[in-house]
Amino acid sequence: MNKLKVLHMYADLLDLYGDGGNMEILKYRCKMRGVECEIDRYSTNSEIPDFSSYDLIYLGGGADLEQQHISEDLQKCRDGIAKAYKKGVFLFLICGGYQLFGKYYKDADGNKIKGLGLFDYYTVAEPDRKKRCIGNIIVKAEISGNEIDILGFENHGGQTKGVKTPLGKVVYGHGNCTNSSHEGYFEKNVIATYMHGCCLSKNPELSDYIITYCLARSIGKKVKLAPLDDSLEKKCRQIMIDRLTK
Ligand code: GLN
Repeated sequence: MNKLKVLHMYADLLDLYGDGGNMEILKYRCKMRGVECEIDRYSTNSEIPDFSSYDLIYLGGGADLEQQHISEDLQKCRDGIAKAYKKGVFLFLICGGYQLFGKYYKDADGNKIKGLGLFDYYTVAEPDRKKRCIGNIIVKAEISGNEIDILGFENHGGQTKGVKTPLGKVVYGHGNCTNSSHEGYFEKNVIATYMHGCCLSKNPELSDYIITYCLARSIGKKVKLAPLDDSLEKKCRQIMIDRLTK
């Protein structure tokens, strides 16, 4: 049986709007294909794991306070995560997690949290706490040569700038900054996004992209996942797309 090894970092601190649900979706979609999905957890002051032994590293979102709590610990993991990323381990990062993989995050009070600096972008929060990017969002992305609409819910004060390879174009909502044209960050083994809610339950194609990438890398050959019955997900997505765009 094929197996996917996942490391869920700071599950106890970074879990806004059900971000932890992304792990449930991955597990479910793997199980339906006869793939075992083992999810380990890492949090502050745990023993530093061998990041390169995982297929996927996942961080959810968190408010400024939680980001401050984990920042020192996250720096201790920097070299291990950077090595894993360079080897092709998949990084899936939501909101607060997304921000902390860039150069820095400066919160509304001007406190600067050092990021891992794996990517060139940086994030500065609106000084006015009331000015947040909140609401449903649709992003048009090209994943494995297919154009897909990614749906989610965003809630961030942070304005992320300097993104060279965004996840996609904003069709509805804000994205990386207030009224931004683009959202998220993308590389073949990185998806970083402001989409909570939880992102994978609303976007089966995104889930399957991640699973396909991880399995193919692990077994060293092309993978074609068996299709699942996503009719309910498709119906829900259409209702939301119509509500936002018509
Ligand atoms: N604290 C960050 C911001 O407001 C991230 C919030 C989040 O993860 N939703 O921009």
